[in-house]
Amino acid sequence: MDNIKLDVLAIAAHRDDVEITCGGTIIKLVDKGKKAGVLDLTQGEMGTKGDAGSRARDAEEASKIMGLTWRGNLELPDSAVEVNRDNKLKVAGIIRAVRPELVILPYWIQRHPDHLYAMELGYDACYLAGLKKLEIGGEAFRPRKIIYASSFRDVRHSFFVDVSDQMERKLDAVRAYKSQFDGSPESKQIFKPGVHIFDFMKITARHYGHLVGLEYAEAFTIKENILIDDPSEMPVKSI
Ligand SMILES: [Zn+2]
Repeated sequence: MDNIKLDVLAIAAHRDDVEITCGGTIIKLVDKGKKAGVLDLTQGEMGTKGDAGSRARDAEEASKIMGLTWRGNLELPDSAVEVNRDNKLKVAGIIRAVRPELVILPYWIQRHPDHLYAMELGYDACYLAGLKKLEIGGEAFRPRKIIYASSFRDVRHSFFVDVSDQMERKLDAVRAYKSQFDGSPESKQIFKPGVHIFDFMKITARHYGHLVGLEYAEAFTIKENILIDDPSEMPVKSI
């Protein structure tokens, strides 16, 4: 793989996870001229609908809509992602090759175990990639910032990103997964039983938007504190 320098890399278990959880933010960064990439850990072959081939074609279309510079797939077994040394080193190798300043990982409370393990592999890989003596090729590199996509999670989020201008393209990127969301009754149950995914994405992003005086927003959580230079200029009114 040729070395490319990305500004942001989102890591997720399945093709379409990134689009659903933080696609608007990725598109926003691309709108700002940043280079964005996605690493999917599996080919999504265990999904209720579609197969690895159809999801690969869907992902290619979604990548175009989001304006990605790079998209890779680790081809780990779907629904059997394991947090082990071998997988950590594979992800660390990708981190060294694409050298992202910002990494977006899934939040750590998840319904699907693969999502949690994607977070753990992603975090450990970011750390390991910075160790000079690590037994993989490439130059040591550690991303500057790790944020966790926490939209749809019932937690207190650290911050929101305004995606009002990107919401339609985000929805288009998710719609590109025709093998998953073809409008059939079955496809309407994929995200969570009883939940229509497009309604859920719109309503949730609208809710986050309202919390901060915007139309649509995506939610993120971070582990470290936020540094502010001048609190009198902080956005979002208190009262
Ligand atoms: Zn998933």
